[in-house]
Amino acid sequence: MPSVVLKPGREKSLHRLHPWIFSGAIKSIEGSPHPGATIEVLSSRGEWLASGAYSPDSQIPIRIWTFDSAEAVSPSFFLMRIHRAIEARARLKIKERCSAFRLIYAESDGIPGLIADQYGEFLVCQFLSAGVEFQKDLIVRAFREILPLKGIFERSDADVRRKEGLPLTTGILSGEPPPELIEIHEDGIRFLVDVYKGHKTGFYLDQRDSRSKAAAWGNGCDVLNVFSYTGGFGIGCLKAGAHRVIHIDSSKTALELIHRHVELNDLNPEKSICLGGDAFQVLRKFRDENHRFDLIILDPPKFIESKSRIEKGARGYKDINMLAIQLLNPYGILFTYSCSGHMESGLFQKIVSDAALDAGREAQVIFRFSQPADHPVALNFPESSYLKGLMLRVF
Ligand code: SAH
Repeated sequence: MPSVVLKPGREKSLHRLHPWIFSGAIKSIEGSPHPGATIEVLSSRGEWLASGAYSPDSQIPIRIWTFDSAEAVSPSFFLMRIHRAIEARARLKIKERCSAFRLIYAESDGIPGLIADQYGEFLVCQFLSAGVEFQKDLIVRAFREILPLKGIFERSDADVRRKEGLPLTTGILSGEPPPELIEIHEDGIRFLVDVYKGHKTGFYLDQRDSRSKAAAWGNGCDVLNVFSYTGGFGIGCLKAGAHRVIHIDSSKTALELIHRHVELNDLNPEKSICLGGDAFQVLRKFRDENHRFDLIILDPPKFIESKSRIEKGARGYKDINMLAIQLLNPYGILFTYSCSGHMESGLFQKIVSDAALDAGREAQVIFRFSQPADHPVALNFPESSYLKGLMLRVF
């Protein structure tokens, strides 16, 4: 087997079971491994540390498969890891609440680069590293062996594939093609998911807990659902008895599904208003026209793509939060989020606090959010933590 030898002292992160090796830690590569090949990792003194997948084009050229020298990267390896992830999800009793959830969350579930989301009888996968790309057949076989699925669909069209030197691709990996829209249910609400062209694997599964919490506060409220995507938060609020919900998103196709969701859940279409456009502009216009709301949801896309962009992204978060705070009635509620991994939760709270200050309003944190239990953060891999949210009372 080919091997990689680390520079002196660079074995430390492996002793803490961190699954990434950066290019700067590598002294030499022995043999001529192809992209995705399994490679042994040795310390500068020649001790065996781990085996991992090789990705020559990546800034992270090795992602660790196992720290156990007795464990081979074989069909049973993937069966065991997938089985463990499924068993962990089963214990969450998540199926009692919904028919769509994350089954495999990459490094956190011991399969670096693999995302697998279940939508009813279909699995939608993203192979985001050279290692899982190379092992795709074994992984698909393992899923087929363990899960009674109608089909497995690939959505490997995420930009991060380029960093691994992989082309973007989508298509059927096994079984039947999924229907154009898959109907799922979440906390008693029916949604349609476009796994072919929708964002991520089709639905923002990571906001399930927040959607349910916001809905519980929606009764009787005038709600502004900003960055609505296909309506998630707002449909829940309408079902809970919101007086009216205005959804804002820049994606026309996402907004079209909101109308379908209103129909599917027997809601009053007059109470659901969809506005296409840039959220910053719409909120400024609402402010200038003196519109007011009782409950506002701000669930923006990732404003910070890399560490060097933190400052610019922070300005975006501050502006949109200031506008939302200005639009709230006294005692109003704001659900505000950041899904940027580079934004720490402490900094996020500070930015929201600055936004309230600039808006001239007092506010209190009454609840905090992070990722739901099917998107766990492995302790040895804090990089898997990205989602944070605050529920505020604004005076
Ligand atoms: N809250 C949603 C998920 C939101 S994801 C849910 O629960 O399903 C972020 C959304 O912001 C995406 O739908 C994207 O189309 C939209 N978006 C991105 N930039 C935008 C902008 N400048 N103005 C309005 N919407 C935007």
